[in-house]
Amino acid sequence: MPTQNPTSANTPSQAPVVACPACGEPTLFAPSNTWRPFCSQRCKHIDLGAWAAEEFRVPTEPPPDAPDDDPRQAL
Ligand SMILES: [Zn+2]
Repeated sequence: MPTQNPTSANTPSQAPVVACPACGEPTLFAPSNTWRPFCSQRCKHIDLGAWAAEEFRVPTEPPPDAPDDDPRQAL
């Protein structure tokens, strides 16, 4: 991700640089970074997609669907 350097590089940035959880690229963990701790919106969506996939992988019990199981017919 190309970073645009401001004209005045003397501004001390106290925001730490963290690794993007999605791609591992160093990204600025600052309020100016909308997608922190990710480096971009794309990476954030990638992570959200991974979460969604994890949720979808959770096995859900199928509802008991046995319309033919009528005990009265057993008589
Ligand atoms: Zn990233």
